[in-house]
Amino acid sequence: MEKKTLEEVVSFCKRRGFIFQSSDIYGGFAAIYDYGHYGTLLKNNIRDAWWKSMVQERDDVYALDSAIFMHPKTWEASGHLAGFDDPQVDCKKCKQRMRADHILEEFGIEADKAPMEFINEKIDELKKEGKVKCVNCGSTDLTEAKRFSLMVKSNIGSPVDVLSEENVVYLRPETCGGIYLEYKNMMNSVHPKLPFGIAQIGKAFRNEIVARQFIFRTREFEQMEMQYFLHPDQMKEKYDFWHELRWSWYLEYGIPEEKMNWHKHDVMAHYATEAYDIEFNFDSLGGFKEVEGIHARGDWDLSQHSKHSGVDLSYTDDQTKEKFIPHIMETSVGLNRLVLMFIDNGYTKENVDGEERLVLKIDKRLSPIKVAIFPLMKNKPEIMEQAKKIHESLKRKWMCEFDTSGSIGKRYRRQDEIGTPYCVTVDFDSLSDKSVTVRDRDTMKQERVKIEDLESYLSEKLSL
Ligand code: ATP
Repeated sequence: MEKKTLEEVVSFCKRRGFIFQSSDIYGGFAAIYDYGHYGTLLKNNIRDAWWKSMVQERDDVYALDSAIFMHPKTWEASGHLAGFDDPQVDCKKCKQRMRADHILEEFGIEADKAPMEFINEKIDELKKEGKVKCVNCGSTDLTEAKRFSLMVKSNIGSPVDVLSEENVVYLRPETCGGIYLEYKNMMNSVHPKLPFGIAQIGKAFRNEIVARQFIFRTREFEQMEMQYFLHPDQMKEKYDFWHELRWSWYLEYGIPEEKMNWHKHDVMAHYATEAYDIEFNFDSLGGFKEVEGIHARGDWDLSQHSKHSGVDLSYTDDQTKEKFIPHIMETSVGLNRLVLMFIDNGYTKENVDGEERLVLKIDKRLSPIKVAIFPLMKNKPEIMEQAKKIHESLKRKWMCEFDTSGSIGKRYRRQDEIGTPYCVTVDFDSLSDKSVTVRDRDTMKQERVKIEDLESYLSEKLSL
């Protein structure tokens, strides 16, 4: 099958109401996106699938929803103010901004989170060989790599509108900060025993240097993170366990194993002691890219916040009486990257009887619309009435759509494109035999089902 291009995916997402460039009517706002009707539904279903696996089905993970803004000291303690940055290189001719580590990656040199001296040394070597060029104009006249902070500033809560050292407040660059700050309150209210996790989903903000890959890398995005607190002796066992669990989540939701990859980090973020990424082979981005990080963070986070706040964040084991700062392992995934992954994986063009069929093959549980109901003809009141009755009853249970326009074939195609697993057609015979035709998205097979059995028929099909 032909590979899909990024342009094709972006235009599909806009045409079918999944994703729009933010502030479209003002010419767009770089690296920020809005989600339309189907995009919002798909994103929420992916979010719920993660939550189900990470919180609902577990006895050792608790829920949190912490604020985007936190005390400015948070980021001093966590090391983000000193070192949460990417290396930037500019083209002196056209002023194009580039990520130096990404340039090096193209030459097979891993430079993610590497020291600036290493990056400049390698860039210089490539420059001497005339290999590094501006991605925009091709010029070889580039600046040295310099540190570019990813932190986004605000003056919330302060009456002055000019940002200064005194009033700056940061928008969180990752959601886990809130989990560390609420660790003590969670301990004192839920009283969990180690090991246990705290999970949350929410917005994060990063001043990304380059963001040209649609929703893969944006300046405002959503993260789904789980921080698991444990005794250091438990790290190996639990790390292996969460590795396995997260990998199988992708398989459970229909991502083929051959399109996934583990990437082990040799160079790590300042806090990490072990780090693996799960990568997905995106057609639209031309290869394997990180979707999720699984990191062993040691006792860095709680130690730092304990030191900077003056509050004791240690844990005392009931039985052994040992007192220690819990270590942390985290799973961190971008919800928006998962939306792109499921669309990239599901977007399929097929040839059906000489005609092209575009179908979004995604797990039924993630489909934005579960059932579409079609009255065969809209000018036949009895058919319309029966179809509306079915719609009214099914929509109490699932996200449904009622479509009366165009031929049934055209209506099927519209639903195929947005990944609707079942279409129900009410026709003349329905009035006498009290049955409807149910058509399956993937097999395109049609089956006659009694109206009184329809809900249980669909329930069985939709609950995997
Ligand atoms: P990258 O190397 O791609 O910049 P990262 O290693 O900095 O990512 P983490 O800080 O580990 O990313 O964040 C965890 C997850 O959050 C990533 O795996 C990704 O899914 C998501 N994420 C991070 N930055 C962005 C972004 N700018 N836009 C969308 N999702 C993001």
